[in-house]
This record gives sequence, C-alpha cells and structure tokens, in this order.
Amino acid sequence: MPEGKKPHKNKPTSKKYTKYKIEGDNIVREKSCPRCGPGIFLMKAKNRLYCGKCHLTEFISKKDISEKEKSEEKKE
Ligand SMILES: [Zn+2]
Repeated sequence: MPEGKKPHKNKPTSKKYTKYKIEGDNIVREKSCPRCGPGIFLMKAKNRLYCGKCHLTEFISKKDISEKEKSEEKKE
C-alpha cells in the first residue's frame, strides 16, 4: 500500500447550514462567537453558549432561566 493514501470515508457533511434560518426574505443566523467572528457559531448548552474553537463560554442570563422558579418561590 503506498503511503499517503488513505481509504476514502464518507464524512458527515457540515452542519453549518443548520445555523441559518430563512425567515421571509431575511437570513437569520444564530449567535456567533464574538472572538472568532462570524462563521464560528456557539454551541448551545443548557444555560450557556460554548465556542468549540476558542473555548469561550458565554453564560445565558439566569434571569431568563430561573424566572419560572422564582415565580414559584414567591407564592404569597
Ligand atoms: Zn470562539
């Protein structure tokens, strides 16, 4: 077997297109990394956004998440 020739495998296609949504005539992009710039998208986690390239973690404000819990706490 000659070196440098690897058997071709089908790679999964880029999922980047899933980050683009077309709403009417506008293209809506998901949040991209402020450090890496447009084109590098942040991965969504439960309460944060994570950049797989520069490992930037951006926390989603807890207000939005715990608003439900808070309203349940303050039952007076
Ligand atoms: Zn980044």
